Amino acid sequence: MRAFRYESLPGRVVFGVGASRTALAEEVTARRVLVLATKRGLPLARELTAPLGNRVVGEFTDVREHVPVEIAEQARTHAKELDADCLLSIGGGSTVGTAKAVALELRLPIVAVPTTYAGSEMTPVWGMTENSSKRTGRSTDVLPELVVYDPALTTDLPPDITATSAMNAMAHSVEGVYAAGANPVSSLMAVDSVRALATGLPTAVADGSDLTARTELLYGAYLAGAVFAVAGSGPHHKICHVLGGAYGLPHAATHSVMLPHVAELMEGPALIPVADALGATTAAQGLRELATHVGAPTSLVGIGFDKRKLGEAAALVAERVSVSEVDIRSLLAAAL
Ligand code: NAD
Repeated sequence: MRAFRYESLPGRVVFGVGASRTALAEEVTARRVLVLATKRGLPLARELTAPLGNRVVGEFTDVREHVPVEIAEQARTHAKELDADCLLSIGGGSTVGTAKAVALELRLPIVAVPTTYAGSEMTPVWGMTENSSKRTGRSTDVLPELVVYDPALTTDLPPDITATSAMNAMAHSVEGVYAAGANPVSSLMAVDSVRALATGLPTAVADGSDLTARTELLYGAYLAGAVFAVAGSGPHHKICHVLGGAYGLPHAATHSVMLPHVAELMEGPALIPVADALGATTAAQGLRELATHVGAPTSLVGIGFDKRKLGEAAALVAERVSVSEVDIRSLLAAAL
């Protein structure tokens, strides 16, 4: 076996159907909790935090995708005014992203209860958007100290969000096997994550209330986030970042479209266990078949990309990845 470095990250995970109904009361010891949720997610957040009683001192619901800096500032001001000592995020990647933006400056602990498969709750990566450009960084200050995964909270996710969000998680695990920080431990997690996501996804899309499938998916998403946190990412994430930032394409859907194409480009020994976990001859084939089977987006034009921008996009992407502009152009053309 080759030599490797593996730095595991701190954090406590409680996983299980119904965990959100028990773990918050048992594990949250903070006295002044600020709850973050979307307006749509607020009734659920109130239900789950009811056992904390008057230890919940406030709510922040102005959550937006990609955390605009002005929203982050509002959330920080709110946390300061309330003298909060804990940020409790109940929601998807946008909600925990808002909590991270607050924690980055105020150094408050985060408790996260994820309701999608984005996986941000497992990572020390934060992101904020200003003038349509996204800044990201790493800080263990934003890594949640407790994550409560409850598959029962994901049964309301509609089929389209289920599919795109799970393909977003899949992208973390697929890239995790060849990313710069990949190591034997993170690769074990990555391959089991691919297996779990591929097993759960078709059933969860057909019947969102199937808790066995939802459990597989959330477990796969948890592992995917943990892999992304330690192994990092590769060209796929850079391509999605450029396309999302420059053309306003939706985050998870862009991952879904691009992943089979990048897997084809990166095909090699590291991706063989991924192909096996997908039950396919190659990772690219397995990912393409899975995305098609569950109706996840497979076309850039289909998610709002203007095909006349192909040349410009290829040049922009080529500045960021060590792949030639010609190869990027044909990759994007295939994804159109
Ligand atoms: P999101 O939080 O915006 O949620 C997507 C949609 O799902 C929203 O419309 C939301 O209202 C809805 N939703 C959430 N939970 C639901 C539920 N249980 N039932 C029904 N609908 C529900 O987006 P996301 O895809 O979870 O996360 C994407 C964001 O996370 C992006 O900003 C991305 O950059 C970030 N992200 C960050 C990291 C990181 O490590 N920092 C990792 C992955 C993603």
